[in-house]
Amino acid sequence: MTEQTITGLSFRDSVDHMAEKAMKAIKLDPKIAAAIKACNTVIQVSFPVDIRGRVEMFTGWRAVHSTHRLPVKGGIRYASYVDQNEVEALAALMTYKCAIVDVPFGGSKGGLHIDPSQYSRDEMEKITRRFTRELATRGFLNPATNVPAPDMGTGQREMAWMMDTYKHMFPEDINYAACVTGKPVAFGGIAGRTEATGRGVQYALREFFRHPDDIALAKLEGGLEGKKIIVQGLGNVGYHAAKFLSEQDGAKITAIIEHDGAISSDAGLDVEAVFQYKLKNGGIKGFPDATYTEDGAKLLEAECDILIPAALEGVIHTGNAKAIKANLIAEAANGPVTFEADQVLHEKGVVILPDAYVNAGGVIVSYFEWVRNLAHIRFGRMEHRLDEARGIQIIHAIEEGTGRPLPQHIKDELVRGSPEVDLVNSGLDDSMRLAYQQMRKTLAENDDIDSYRTAAFAIAIEKISRTYLDIGVY
Ligand code: GLU
Repeated sequence: MTEQTITGLSFRDSVDHMAEKAMKAIKLDPKIAAAIKACNTVIQVSFPVDIRGRVEMFTGWRAVHSTHRLPVKGGIRYASYVDQNEVEALAALMTYKCAIVDVPFGGSKGGLHIDPSQYSRDEMEKITRRFTRELATRGFLNPATNVPAPDMGTGQREMAWMMDTYKHMFPEDINYAACVTGKPVAFGGIAGRTEATGRGVQYALREFFRHPDDIALAKLEGGLEGKKIIVQGLGNVGYHAAKFLSEQDGAKITAIIEHDGAISSDAGLDVEAVFQYKLKNGGIKGFPDATYTEDGAKLLEAECDILIPAALEGVIHTGNAKAIKANLIAEAANGPVTFEADQVLHEKGVVILPDAYVNAGGVIVSYFEWVRNLAHIRFGRMEHRLDEARGIQIIHAIEEGTGRPLPQHIKDELVRGSPEVDLVNSGLDDSMRLAYQQMRKTLAENDDIDSYRTAAFAIAIEKISRTYLDIGVY
């Protein structure tokens, strides 16, 4: 499947090795360590679908890594390279990810072996609804126990089909809307979920740049403003991360790598323009005012301050790790750096902010969506007008006290109340900041921990092991 295999270690082994390093550093009881590492359950389903008058067989998986918290959570990926090993590795990463950012879920992941570009919208709907029935009848899709979300190749559309199929199967389940997250807002989704993972990458980097010692560790200076960033993958995550970092933080996106090559510009690329070009033309080749390189992966090795791999796993491996020139890598994808490459980069002094932390924004906002679905009410609905009334009272108090009118823009801000997306982003920002602060504290306090990755795993494993120790293993 992916390039990961050229290193010898499978994706699953790579994740396990990373976890083991942290387990050793915190001197975890080997029996608890074994219990945490094991993937609890995996199902494989094969089902027929009538496509253009012919029966086609499809194969999919859903892996449940840990049920120390329920429901288990994680996306469903549609791709022609998906296999069981990948799904298990991604499920394990979900367990650690949720624990790092204090999202009370276990880890799961699903995949369907399919090339979505080969099927029409109606065919995709038929296949998705059938896959959903396969999962739901076996208890692998349920608001209380297993809640999928979008991943590569899936989005709001697939989540809406899944929810609708589940609703028709179990109409008496009052919480049916919580059986998947990442739904369109009109179907019980939450504002800000689509861009949440990219937004989380932005918040992670903002937090990193609030700590001068950490900036110095990466041999960088100053803030995000003017930093040269290379982004691999202009999918949902890469696009939003690059867009927010360039438009809101003044960073310069000097190169974008996609499936059909890479484009670069020292002056910085207009991310929105590149994204629109890609939508229209199916790729980035030919984008005006930029240098095109056919061998896109070569650009991973180009000069930059920050490298953001936001596509597939295993793209930074022993074959290219030595040549990487970035000072800082923010892993927006799951598993973009192999275990062996991680060691090479560490020796070179490259600082890596790990995937299980950096890309947790998606599942954090999924958690908010799930809670909103169980509450059956939009966040902020009860307090919106009350906030407005309080704002008006504050304006009156200030104007009376000072005898002067407040400027209109301050008044507007005070009476605005909080739309749901502001509440979502506030919760996301807080989760990302707290997790970062925990990571840097763990890194500083434990001499056996030498990277953010090991710190992140150590925090997650400590939390998970506490559940095992408190409840016991039966
Ligand atoms: N697929 C996303 C991830 O890998 C989101 C998972 C979720 O929201 O459950 O983190």
